[in-house]
Amino acid sequence: MTTPNRTNRRKFIAQTVKGGLAVTVGLSAAAPLLQSFTTNKNFVPGGFNTGFDQQPLPYAYNALENVIDAMTMEIHYSKHAAAYSKNVKDAAAAEKVNMTEPLEEVLSNISKYSAKMRNNGGGHYNHEMFWQCMRPKKENNAPTGKLLASIEKEFNSFENFKKQFAEFGKNRFGSGWAWLYINKEKVLTLGSTLNQDNPLMDIAEIKGYPLLALDVWEHAYYLKYQNKRADYIEAWWQVVNWDYVAERLHSYDI
Ligand code: MN
Repeated sequence: MTTPNRTNRRKFIAQTVKGGLAVTVGLSAAAPLLQSFTTNKNFVPGGFNTGFDQQPLPYAYNALENVIDAMTMEIHYSKHAAAYSKNVKDAAAAEKVNMTEPLEEVLSNISKYSAKMRNNGGGHYNHEMFWQCMRPKKENNAPTGKLLASIEKEFNSFENFKKQFAEFGKNRFGSGWAWLYINKEKVLTLGSTLNQDNPLMDIAEIKGYPLLALDVWEHAYYLKYQNKRADYIEAWWQVVNWDYVAERLHSYDI
């Protein structure tokens, strides 16, 4: 095998990251280039670092109708999530954080920062991930391939997985998130966090690398579902972007 030159190597890495194979393919060639944006490899596999600026929503506000209505999406993205991004940047400036480094670096050491950083850093990260975890609805929407096999291995069946995940969402008292994540033993695990905490945080109740995020704050569903959080969660499965979840899983090299 010939050694690719630097340009080709970068292109190769970009393609493999896009294909979700970044860590399993060509790790030795990728290492020097990934290093610049992979400062905490345990928690930040290639291709999924988060910046401090809000990224464009990957679809229109009405794209998730009628699972999530356009008004909810617009307020959620342009007001709630935009505020987390603004506020985490304010906190980062005040606390002398280098905003060219991935936000994940701050989150993994969040105990060293302010409550403002914890709430808004988590809020920004969680929402940036949440938008990517969704796409326009599909009939019989379900994971495939290695992701499905991993889910069936840990939870017996996809149906059982959905049921258990939904319980974490329904039982989170007050505001928070439900998660599918990889724990430190590289096992797919379910859990939930309070407020805007997430599994990357050193002070979170659960720790690992998040694969799938569900926002169960009332602002995520109240206009359409009112108090019926369970109905929101049940409908939400139709818009989960399993390709994105699979890319996150593959990037973690399990
Ligand atoms: Mn939210």
